[in-house]
Amino acid sequence: MKVLTIKKRTLIIVLVCILIIGSAVGVFYAVKTASLSKLKYTIVLDAGHGGRDGGSVGVNGTIEKEINLEYTLALKEKLTNSGFRVELTRKTDDGLYSLTAPNKKLSDMSARFSIIQRTNPSLVISIHMNSFSDSSAYGAETYYRANDKASKYCADLIQSSFYTYLNARNKTSKVGDYYILNCSYYTAVLIECGYISNPTEEAKLNTEEYKNQFVEAVYNGILLYFGNTVKI
Ligand SMILES: [Zn+2]
Repeated sequence: MKVLTIKKRTLIIVLVCILIIGSAVGVFYAVKTASLSKLKYTIVLDAGHGGRDGGSVGVNGTIEKEINLEYTLALKEKLTNSGFRVELTRKTDDGLYSLTAPNKKLSDMSARFSIIQRTNPSLVISIHMNSFSDSSAYGAETYYRANDKASKYCADLIQSSFYTYLNARNKTSKVGDYYILNCSYYTAVLIECGYISNPTEEAKLNTEEYKNQFVEAVYNGILLYFGNTVKI
């Protein structure tokens, strides 16, 4: 009967070990999930252009500043519903420049910079639409500032998501020399959602369905970025 007792004891020890390991794994995943939602990352969303600066105009009349704002607001909704804090550089059609400023573009850009600095965000995303002389150019593209590893990492995850979910042309992101990326040291990406100079893509960009797919794709990239950089 001694053998049986030992076997019984071993069985109990094994069961207890399984319970301990099981709950430890459970706690780990619970903590990781909680970290993502409760750390409350703040993201600055920047709708490109505004006011007197309309940006590009699509072949069939899409005005870039207007569709930029639509995409930005849709992304804001998704992110805030998921527990992120979102700060917008502009909430309306207006630009951010002072009406009395001699250089409106400079005034507009420095106002965007001030919002980023004041917000101290974990990520900055600037939303634009692309335009090119060759109307066959297509696909969402993501840019980051040169020599910034975190921004490149984030941009690549978003671009890879575009490639997988939106059939974007490029798998990886590109270096972009843009004020909104260069003005601060925060992790920042600029997204050209698609080419409004391409009639097919312009029509697609103007549908709710594509806008929602786009938002999901960006959201997927953002989650991967924060999920992989969170240290517990
Ligand atoms: Zn633009």
